[in-house]
Amino acid sequence: MVVTATTEHCASRRILTSPHLRIVRADQVRPDDLIVSAFQPSVPGRLARADYFASGPYPARPGPYHPGCGCGVCGLPKVQGPNGTVVLTTGYPWDTCDPWPADDLLLIRPRLHLS
Ligand SMILES: [Zn+2]
Repeated sequence: MVVTATTEHCASRRILTSPHLRIVRADQVRPDDLIVSAFQPSVPGRLARADYFASGPYPARPGPYHPGCGCGVCGLPKVQGPNGTVVLTTGYPWDTCDPWPADDLLLIRPRLHLS
């Protein structure tokens, strides 16, 4: 794992030392995975730059995607991916759904395995 950008957000900064971080497609995120960062579009020849959230990391609560749900984000062109759209949370940490193009990459910490 290469960290390509840092953040001043306390919760995000702490989690960057976790050995469990991994990069997955949005449609591979599972319930209770902690979503740490998205990535800015990559510049040719450069590593994709981490793009942190003002909210800090947040737990995934995936749900069905409804383009006409009316939250103001679902249905926007930027959430439509060539392989479809997935919703990673609804109503938290924002008042809207959290739809992503299915093939967008995210930095996550997989949900903790409780023994
Ligand atoms: Zn919505």
